[in-house]
Amino acid sequence: MSCGGHDNSETDCDDVLLKIYEYLDGEMGEVDCEKIRQHLEECQPCLKEYDVDQALKALVRRSCRCETAPEALRTQIMARITTVTVTTRVERTE
Ligand SMILES: [Zn+2]
Repeated sequence: MSCGGHDNSETDCDDVLLKIYEYLDGEMGEVDCEKIRQHLEECQPCLKEYDVDQALKALVRRSCRCETAPEALRTQIMARITTVTVTTRVERTE
């Protein structure tokens, strides 16, 4: 199974945290998206680091320059974050 031993270092934590907003925003390609998702499933520090509240604020700031986010956008973002969290929990149960 292990030919190079580099399978897991392909996506490192800094990379994930940098791209997390793109990921949440849905701007990322499927391949990259999958990499982030997999990393978050396996890396607890990243999950903690990626604070939901911060991600939400950053996204809102990027998506519109006003201080309050439109309700629809909020809902969309929260749904996405929930999906990530739920998926992670399910995967980790095993
Ligand atoms: Zn990590």
